[in-house]
Amino acid sequence: MNYTRDIRPEWGIGTRMVHGGTTRSHYAETAEAIYLTSGDVSPSAEEAQAAFDNAKPRFVYGRFGNPTVSMFEERMALLEGAEAARATASGMAAVFASLACLVKSGDRVVAADALFGSCNYIVQELLPKWGVETEFVDGRDLDQWKKALSKPTKAVLLETPSNPSLRLVDLKAVCDLAHASGAQVIVDNVFATPLLQRPLDFGADIVVYSATKHIDGQGRCLGGVILGTAKYIDETLQPFIRHTGPSLSPVNAWVLLKGLETLELRLQRQCDSAEKIARALQSHAKLNHAHYPTLENFPQVDLARKQMKSGGSMVSLDLKGGKEASFRFLNALRLVLISNNLGDSKSLATHPATTTHQRLSPEQKAAQGITPGLIRLSVGLEDLADLLADVTQALDAA
Ligand SMILES: *Cc1c(COP(=O)(O)O)cnc(C)c1O
Repeated sequence: MNYTRDIRPEWGIGTRMVHGGTTRSHYAETAEAIYLTSGDVSPSAEEAQAAFDNAKPRFVYGRFGNPTVSMFEERMALLEGAEAARATASGMAAVFASLACLVKSGDRVVAADALFGSCNYIVQELLPKWGVETEFVDGRDLDQWKKALSKPTKAVLLETPSNPSLRLVDLKAVCDLAHASGAQVIVDNVFATPLLQRPLDFGADIVVYSATKHIDGQGRCLGGVILGTAKYIDETLQPFIRHTGPSLSPVNAWVLLKGLETLELRLQRQCDSAEKIARALQSHAKLNHAHYPTLENFPQVDLARKQMKSGGSMVSLDLKGGKEASFRFLNALRLVLISNNLGDSKSLATHPATTTHQRLSPEQKAAQGITPGLIRLSVGLEDLADLLADVTQALDAA
């Protein structure tokens, strides 16, 4: 008896996100089961041996794999169009594992400077401590990439659009340069989500997500995922994960599976509202700018339209009055919440200079476009009219 639905090649992404990866137990449950078990039993000593030496692969221990986690990984691979995926306990575990499994002492890593705070910490602080040479470039500047990648390089790490300044990297051009220098390209695709930008299509080798963001998108749990070729995932990443243990909990994998079922619907509304809010605030007297990647006045609009299907759910606002005005704006909000999270169904506003990117030096902040007046607005699922009214009244109060 077959209770599952084999994914047909002609099925669209909405269908895949509802059915993809599902395996059913003999109870034939409709929803995905939560296999809340740390390990698995063997019918015989011989079978236990065969499972451990991979002669007969199957689930043996939660740190190596779990049926619910595996459903999430399959569904993510279908969404990304990747050969394979591995889930992790958080987005940072995904970024770290994807990179750490590739490099050894003496290797070289090049990264775009506009990175999420903790990604920056890994490249700037951790890797050099372990003998890995790291270099940062302005991700928007192809000449800097060319120069940095003229030396043999093992890995490239970049984020596009970047958190929080929405800076873009030309994926195709940088992947070509990176491959010529022998590097594998890791793209942190959190802001774009797999629905709006497909880095693998532009030559990227590895894509990572904080599934905490849009994939859950309802503020419930942390999670991460790494996608790439079966060779990289099975031979390079899997041993690293198996022996270092950043594994995702089956309960959180289930939450993320349910998140994927509604991702497309949620994102459509969030992107639509984000674009309309950015457009409405274009010439607001209190703002230096309201940036949204696919709007006409965005500095890299051509690149955004080339590699993204839509600008995403994030808007960056630069208030003329610096930190004081930003704090007045945040404190005047009645609907939008102050939080460092993003991609949520609830709209969230962040002041990166004093929170998520506080650790950076004033020079680094300036180089990444993190001005004292920068507000990162993550647009949620509320009614557009309510969001516009709230942001507008808070700007008036700023
Ligand atoms: C949030 C975030 C991360 C880290 O993810 P966690 O799930 O919080 O560990 C990494 N990169 C980007 C771009 C993010 O926004």
